[in-house]
Amino acid sequence: MSGLLDGRVLVVTGASSGIGEATALAASAQGAAVALLARRTDRVIALAERIVAGGGRALPLTADVRKPDSLREAAERVADELGRADCLVNNAGQMLLSAFSDGKADEWRQMVEINLLGAMSATDAFLPALRAGGGDIVNISSVAGRKARPTSSVYSATKWALGGWSEALRQELIDDRVRVTLVEPGAVRTELSDHISDETIRQRSRQSYDDYDALQAEDIAAGVLYAVSQPSRVSVNELLIRPTLQAY
Ligand code: NDP
Repeated sequence: MSGLLDGRVLVVTGASSGIGEATALAASAQGAAVALLARRTDRVIALAERIVAGGGRALPLTADVRKPDSLREAAERVADELGRADCLVNNAGQMLLSAFSDGKADEWRQMVEINLLGAMSATDAFLPALRAGGGDIVNISSVAGRKARPTSSVYSATKWALGGWSEALRQELIDDRVRVTLVEPGAVRTELSDHISDETIRQRSRQSYDDYDALQAEDIAAGVLYAVSQPSRVSVNELLIRPTLQAY
């Protein structure tokens, strides 16, 4: 059976849960070989085993996007074992919502290092491979990269910055035929809210999933696949995907 992504190699950061896991599964179902990067090695190994058991090709890799060396090592393993990389999904992220005036500087730093610098470091590590044959970079931003709220100040700042960087990168890589897509999900039911340290904000965030009848991770994976499976003349620059019931 032929798939939309036959012959392609898709690298996903944050593949151990949520949107990253769903994207890897969806891409594999369409014929791509997938490299699964995350810190939780047990989770990416289990996912790879699941994909291989279903007839797909998957390479689990331990990588922390805050550690450029781990990303360079991952890029070498992908080149050695999968032969190439022609699509990078910069998905790893954390949403540590808090009131800015609570001064949670460690959490601000984590979000900047993972959501923004992490995407840049992963892109740096895989760019030579992506340039070699033309490919795709998909940056998973958020509605919070367009709409700010009091408790999302630093999270929004990281996602807003991701949008600016993505657009400049899209222009810079045109001659290399590397496409850059920004995906901006609204509320998606994943583990993302579980890490919020403020109990009240964590509960409110979880409640919003019910209020909005939140998206499933598979809904965002479908958006990613739509973008990267277009003919080479088509560049899907931006996808904003909200639950139907989410107004802002
Ligand atoms: P999850 O918490 O399920 O997934 C986050 C992923 O990021 C995990 O696989 C985690 O893996 C990985 N990750 C976190 N820190 C690092 C790190 N330092 N190095 C490598 N990987 C890391 O949440 P989602 O699937 O929802 O989040 C995925 C992306 O989607 C994020 O960028 C998020 O901002 C964005 N998003 C999500 C929305 C939602 O409502 N869920 C809405 C809008 C955007 P591990 O811990 O194993 O390293």
